[in-house]
Amino acid sequence: MTGRRKLIAGNWKMNGLKAQLGEVSAIGELAAGRPDIDVALFLPATLISAAAPLAGTVLVGGQDCHQEEAGAFTGCISAPMLLGAGAGGTLVGHSERRTYQHETNADVAAKAARASQHGLEVVLCVGETLDTREQGDEAAHGWVVDQLLASLPEGAGSGWLTIAYEPVWAIGTGKVATPAQIAAMHGALRDALVEALGADGQAMRILYGGSVSGDNAADILHLDNVDGALVGGASLSAAKFAPIIAAA
Ligand code: PEP
Repeated sequence: MTGRRKLIAGNWKMNGLKAQLGEVSAIGELAAGRPDIDVALFLPATLISAAAPLAGTVLVGGQDCHQEEAGAFTGCISAPMLLGAGAGGTLVGHSERRTYQHETNADVAAKAARASQHGLEVVLCVGETLDTREQGDEAAHGWVVDQLLASLPEGAGSGWLTIAYEPVWAIGTGKVATPAQIAAMHGALRDALVEALGADGQAMRILYGGSVSGDNAADILHLDNVDGALVGGASLSAAKFAPIIAAA
C-alpha cells in the first residue's frame, strides 16, 4: 500500500456538446460505485457549469487555466472563472497546449501556481516526443525529469498537485508505452519528486496517459508508482471509461 489514492481522469479535449452531458451523469454513477478511488473529468470550458451538478463525486475541471488573474487575454480562461463555473480543478501543460499554444515550462508552473491559489486541484502533464524516446531510455528519463522540475510550481504539494506522465508519441495514436517503459519512467519521476519535495514527493500521485483503454488499463494501473490514468479518447463515453475505472 502506498497511501496514494488512485485517480482515473478523463480529458475530453475539444469534444463534447450539451447533447453529451448524459455521459457525465453516467460517469458520475460509475464513480459512485468506486468510493475507494478518485475520478475526474477535464471538460471543455463551455460544459463545466452544466456538467458540475450532474457529476456527483466526479471532480469536474478545465483543460487549461491562464496564469494571470484577469485582463486583456482574449479567449483565455482564468482560475476564478473556472471556479465560478463550478470547476474543482484543471489540467496544465498538456502536450497539445505545449505544442499548439507554445506554452513553456515557466508558463506551466505559473498556471499551476495560480490555480492552486484559488483552491483548484491541478494535474500537470509532462512527456517526451518520439525523437527523444528514440535516443534511448536514459535520455528520455533525463529529458522528462528536467521538464518536470522546470514545470513544478512554487509550493508544489501532494494535497493539490498530481503529475501525469504522457509520452507524446502515445497520445491518441493507439501506441501505448510498454509496462517496462512506464514503470521505469515513473520510478525516475518519483525519485525526482522525492529529491525536490522530500517526503511529500512520495505522496504525490503520478498518472500515466497515452492510449489507455479497457484492454490495457489493468496491465498499467498496477505498476509501481502508477497512481492512476489520464485518458483521452476512452473517456468520452461511460461505456469505454467503465472498464478503466473498474481496473483501478
Ligand atoms: C490525453 O488526452 O491526455 C490522452 C492521453 O489521450 P488518449 O488517451 O486519447 O491517448
